[in-house]
Amino acid sequence: MMDDLLRQIRDDPRIRAAEHSVSAGDARTLSDQVLLTRIPAPPFAEDARARRMASLMVDAGLANVTTDGIGNVLGRFEGASEGPPIVLSAHLDTVFPAETPIEVREDSDRLVGPGISDDGRGLTVLLAVARALGEAGVQLRSSLLFAATVGEEGPGNLRGVRHLFGPHGAARDAAAFVSVDGAGLDRVVTRGVGSRRFRIAVNGPGGHSWVDWGLANPIHALGAAVGELAAFAVPTDPPGTLTVARWGGGTSINAIPQEAWIEVDTRSESEEQLEEVERELRRTVGRCVAETRCNPQRRHLDTEISVLGIRPAGDTPIDAAVVRAAVAATRALGVEPELCASSTDANMPMSVGIPAVTVGGGGSAGMAHTTDEWYRNDRGPNGVLRALFTVLLLCGTADQARPAD
Ligand SMILES: [Zn+2]
Repeated sequence: MMDDLLRQIRDDPRIRAAEHSVSAGDARTLSDQVLLTRIPAPPFAEDARARRMASLMVDAGLANVTTDGIGNVLGRFEGASEGPPIVLSAHLDTVFPAETPIEVREDSDRLVGPGISDDGRGLTVLLAVARALGEAGVQLRSSLLFAATVGEEGPGNLRGVRHLFGPHGAARDAAAFVSVDGAGLDRVVTRGVGSRRFRIAVNGPGGHSWVDWGLANPIHALGAAVGELAAFAVPTDPPGTLTVARWGGGTSINAIPQEAWIEVDTRSESEEQLEEVERELRRTVGRCVAETRCNPQRRHLDTEISVLGIRPAGDTPIDAAVVRAAVAATRALGVEPELCASSTDANMPMSVGIPAVTVGGGGSAGMAHTTDEWYRNDRGPNGVLRALFTVLLLCGTADQARPAD
């Protein structure tokens, strides 16, 4: 059904012309990718890249280009109907802190630079899709809302999409959400891996390591907890994880420490499991702190657990239009799609019941989240076409019988 509909859409001479312009515009797409990647966008400081993205969206012919209250850049390709929009999105932020030198260089057939794929590729796919639609001159039925979001990576805690789908967000009534994140042509993310992240600090009086021996030691307490957490059998169906990712504390080699801390990342596709793992984490820390060997009169360790981030888990049924559209678009390009789970901007719409997927923007890439990140433009235009076909299937064209549902 979707395949037939896509064939019908691609028979339209205007769409054929649009496909042509995507291939012809490949060099422009790559130069946008380099240009945007070169503008640093550390967590919570995406504004310089956002401003450039906004001007490129205007250039690409989008209407009503604005920046919303949290910093997402939005633009519209207006459809004929007043109905809920389809959202096509990519994220502005990178994992790299402000002091990271951001250079993009060519290394034989690769572009190398932090963020070149994740999500420099996604942002430029949005622009290429907007240009292709404009050049084709097709009238869509549903409006297409383009969104370049802030805060997708770890510390951002999805604050961009949280706002977008919140009570005052532009996508609160969206019919479907498609995020283009990184490279690749086969993966379609239909399940959102949720996460909960914690910082656990244990404080005590501290003292001299000889004179005050017997005072409760926060490092001993948390060390015992880390040992137990490392041995904790995390759920396997669906799979969950618990990682003690950072730790620290202590004052001096000759002091009983006053403080110790750990940071813990837990993940699962199931909210109930995240709940269960969190309970186990809190129980384990509580017990280990309580059992820390010390002089009984001087047992006072305080524990403070703060939540660093919560990403809701969620999933989109595989028979939802957005999944079938992404699958049909992928197959039309001769690639067998792989439905999979990941943690992306799509988690947020999934968690509020809006059908959502995340797809790659074509080409291939590696070393994501490192300064050696690279992108190779293997059949890169197919990444743009996949996004274009997916949104055409979802929005429908005004003279087509009806959009896919
Ligand atoms: Zn990404």
